Amino acid sequence: MKNTLGPDLPSASSLRHFHVLAKPTGAICNLDCKYCFFLSKEMLYPGDRFRMADDLLETYIRQLLESQPGPEISVAWQGGEPTLMGLDFFRRAMEYTATYQRPGTTVAHTIQTNGTELTPEWCAFFREHNFLVGLSLDGPQEMHDLYRVDKGGRPTFDKVMRAARLMQAHGVEFNILTTVNAGNVEHPLEVYRFLRDEVGTRFIQFIPIVERVTREMLPLANQGWGARGSDPRPLYVQEGGLVTDRTVDAEAWGRFLNAIFDEWVTRDVGTVFVQMFDAALASWVGAPAGMCIFAETCGDAVALEHNGDLYSCDHFVEPKHLLGNIRKVHMLQLVDSDQQRAFGTHKRDSLPNYCRQCAVRFACHGECPKNRFMSTPDGEPGLNYLCAGYLSFFTHIDRPMRMMADLLRRGRYADEVMPLLAAEKAAMFGSTGRNHLCPCGSGLKFKRCHGGAHVSAAEPTPERINARGTIRSARSAWRGQEA
Ligand code: SF4
Ligand code: SF4
Repeated sequence: MKNTLGPDLPSASSLRHFHVLAKPTGAICNLDCKYCFFLSKEMLYPGDRFRMADDLLETYIRQLLESQPGPEISVAWQGGEPTLMGLDFFRRAMEYTATYQRPGTTVAHTIQTNGTELTPEWCAFFREHNFLVGLSLDGPQEMHDLYRVDKGGRPTFDKVMRAARLMQAHGVEFNILTTVNAGNVEHPLEVYRFLRDEVGTRFIQFIPIVERVTREMLPLANQGWGARGSDPRPLYVQEGGLVTDRTVDAEAWGRFLNAIFDEWVTRDVGTVFVQMFDAALASWVGAPAGMCIFAETCGDAVALEHNGDLYSCDHFVEPKHLLGNIRKVHMLQLVDSDQQRAFGTHKRDSLPNYCRQCAVRFACHGECPKNRFMSTPDGEPGLNYLCAGYLSFFTHIDRPMRMMADLLRRGRYADEVMPLLAAEKAAMFGSTGRNHLCPCGSGLKFKRCHGGAHVSAAEPTPERINARGTIRSARSAWRGQEA
């Protein structure tokens, strides 16, 4: 293994696991999604070209591969829009990977893209190097096009669907990243069924949109974070106690997750993988959640800017969370710095008492600090804006999660929960007529409640019978995308 560029690996440090999201174009993107506060991070580097230089690419890959013990090391690309770097940049990344990869380690490549630049050539490249692609799609056309528009304000749905079909035709492994915002949160089943049945994806990530702003910033922020001619635009920083019009409502977020979970747990366990449900199941079995937002502490997922600047987290690319530049200091030293350790433990140490006493703390841990700008009912600051949603969700899923965790502990498969729930339903509701009151006590007619079509029992198909517990089978699908 040669060592040609950048500072040397500090000999006193031991190797350790951490995750880097690299942004080779910085904040530069060909789209202008209204809620994408990252577009505003262009303001951090005025006059810059926003392209990662070749020698920095080599330094980055070398430092990353020599810092981690393996056996699997993730190389993750994000943006902005990373495909704007062009294929040759990524071909060089593969060459540097081959140069610096240590014996006994494997390298997993991931990229998050809006899909609009994908071509058959890109897909062939992804397939050849076994990339896991994250494709951003917010649901059916009218929901996707509400906020995901190009620089001219034009819709992008058709281009993204074209990218999905292209990747399917080339056998590229991809998951869908769906942001949940004011425009789609009231349509959970429409979104879920569209992704499952029309896009045909088996791997789904839901990310709630929370754009936090100050009172002064609110009118500007509501216009979106992209460029507006020569007008100055705001730089997004994690400050303020107000939210934009696009921000998801906390209780609606809970209802969104609950509705999709109810459909998933009765028919899709083992065949469709929803990152948040996998993370929850991990918490119920006592394993690490696999998503930093649900971990007790964080700080193991840093963000690398196009010029080598390393920040504490992708959500905190702002001056006070700059750790240093990897051209000057090895990234392992930066990740191991006091500043970064304090960033990570702050997630636990700043948790309000209300959360410390919460029954679902083991699964939530106060979620991400970026969203902790509310006050608890007794006036303590630091409660998560999404608390009402998470409290509802983690309470709602408790029983089926206990059932799946119990199955896994007994060496069975999580998808066996489906026939168990179906049998329970049959025992409780078997003789109830469609127009009778539902025996669950809701006051609704049976056909509008537990007799609805979406809760019908799933047949145990051969694929489901063969499917392994969700935690084990889905883990590789989220590699490198936990932040
Ligand atoms: S929990 Fe939030 S602040 Fe911590 S690493 Fe994850 S995204 Fe960043
Ligand atoms: S559900 Fe609410 S109170 Fe409970 S840990 Fe999460 S944020 Fe805190």
